[in-house]
Amino acid sequence: MSPTRLLPPLLLLVAPLATLAWRAEEVGRSAPAVLEPGVAYVVEPVAGEAVVELDPRTCGECLLVIGSLADGSESYDVVVEPADEALPLSAVRPFVLPQPSVEDRETRGVTPERPPSTGGGSPGQDERRSFHVHVTDGATDDGRHYAKVDARVVAHSTEVRVLLDENVSPGELAPGLVEEIVREIDDLLPRVEEMVGPPLDVDGDGTLAVLLTPWLGRLEGGRVSVDGFVRPSDFDTSVPVPFGDSADVLFLNPHLRPGRRLKAVLAHEAAHVAAISQRRRAWTRVAGPSSSGTVEEDWLNEAIAHVVEARLVSRSPNLVPRIRRFHESPASTPLVVPDYHAARLWRDDACRGATFGFLTHCLEVSEPDCLSRLAGTTDAGVRNVERATGRSFQDLFRSWSVAVARRTEPECLGAPTVRRQQIRLRGTATASVLVDPEVWTGRIRVAASPGARLQITLLPCHVRAESPKGSRLEE
Ligand SMILES: [Zn+2]
Repeated sequence: MSPTRLLPPLLLLVAPLATLAWRAEEVGRSAPAVLEPGVAYVVEPVAGEAVVELDPRTCGECLLVIGSLADGSESYDVVVEPADEALPLSAVRPFVLPQPSVEDRETRGVTPERPPSTGGGSPGQDERRSFHVHVTDGATDDGRHYAKVDARVVAHSTEVRVLLDENVSPGELAPGLVEEIVREIDDLLPRVEEMVGPPLDVDGDGTLAVLLTPWLGRLEGGRVSVDGFVRPSDFDTSVPVPFGDSADVLFLNPHLRPGRRLKAVLAHEAAHVAAISQRRRAWTRVAGPSSSGTVEEDWLNEAIAHVVEARLVSRSPNLVPRIRRFHESPASTPLVVPDYHAARLWRDDACRGATFGFLTHCLEVSEPDCLSRLAGTTDAGVRNVERATGRSFQDLFRSWSVAVARRTEPECLGAPTVRRQQIRLRGTATASVLVDPEVWTGRIRVAASPGARLQITLLPCHVRAESPKGSRLEE
């Protein structure tokens, strides 16, 4: 993405080589006397605005990383503009991601062993089962909007049964599709289990069911086509038909063909199976087997599935375009969206890219088994992330925002000069604004419309060496 092209004077100072000195006398006792290059600095807003100033004699271009901690359903206007010299400067301090708290380490969950198979044995080739799919754009709690799918087993292994909608003949499928599904699930499921936890055998048949039905190509009354999905309600035996089928089942679109996309879809959906299973186990531990509990929030649910997918399929064709979309429009892409459908962001590519990037970042700065802790809990959303990582969401969001901004750094060079910038910033979205002390001298004010809960970080892009002619070296 390109940083919002604003530019003006920020002012970092240049100390002889790499030391950037701050106008400490003006920012009060909480500000550091020296700014280290390559360090991110927290700028503390007061009453929704912040004022900064950097020394133009010594610093290079900087990014102002601006995030909103407000609800992701709202958008806010943020302005970055020249400020009156009389405005007091904001407190500035280095940002260091705190270590996880000991208390949280001790209260983290454990990954269960895979339970012994309850049997089930090999199915006969004419084994038949029925499932139900919500196929209209009507209410999901109204049974009239569900279609019954009769299916028969067309292939199986120790890990999986593949079932085909009886309205489809095997000859209509891409050659080798069923065999490839069996092969991939056999390969993927144990690896997903290692990362997230073992899948539940809800129906006691000892295998995961994969149902191929053309309904996936005409959901919501024919308007929506998806490659695959998994429903938490199927894993909850207290949910009656047709809202749940009391089965560990993964739904797949029969239009898929063998190849990397199929593998990516299977890895993603298998991760959903494992995560839903872990969550059901957690609710059973806490509230008993008849408790339905609550589902994980959509953004975190999808983040877990995409992270697993990325680990199993390099450059996943199901994921790479979504990451690209996010980096094209981070300011308008909310991270925390509990219900994608309600927010009209279901399958929004940029949102998926954001949540994948955020969780990937969280895992990079956390312990290796964080993924299974995220899945195996009754907590959800932000609270879940905080418990599993032992860190506050605010700190993780800032740390991730800085990482996102750093990706834009090469584009800092040669950016245009503007005196004032206005950004439309979504809640739990992040943007960066490039400021150049060569151009912008004086104070800079960052202010947002009420309720934005601004989070501001200053990030020097380049370290400028002092030169008699004012030329600079960029690292
Ligand atoms: Zn998903």
